[in-house]
Amino acid sequence: MSFCCGASMIGTRGTLKHFRTHIHNVPILFCPVCHRVDVHYLAQHEYDILAEYAHGDGAAEVDFVDYVEQEEQVLLENCVNHENEEPIEVVRSQIDMGLDLLGFAKQIDDKDWQLVLKKRLGILNSRRNKLMRGRSSV
Ligand SMILES: [Zn+2]
Repeated sequence: MSFCCGASMIGTRGTLKHFRTHIHNVPILFCPVCHRVDVHYLAQHEYDILAEYAHGDGAAEVDFVDYVEQEEQVLLENCVNHENEEPIEVVRSQIDMGLDLLGFAKQIDDKDWQLVLKKRLGILNSRRNKLMRGRSSV
């Protein structure tokens, strides 16, 4: 778990810009408070290599997952909270997280990422509604 501003940073994937190259699906840590973004420490080395390679190649866009084989589970379990929370609490915090990321995607004007996040938020929203209905009928 990494910390920033006293808040724990969120593990996710995002698009980073290295000079003129957009690098998609980079494992990152995102601070929900100040919106600082760090490359995930387990991916830093690969990221540096890919960023240099793509920049030298003059590529406008590359996808991190196309170049780097990795154990995604290890990365995510390391930085995302999987405590025994109630499903509805998990969904709620995922929605909060999604909204934070959406704000950030807007800041950096990443349209593709915004679309992905909006779609994900739509799914989370209906999941939350379903959970709330389930709960009130008990
Ligand atoms: Zn912070």
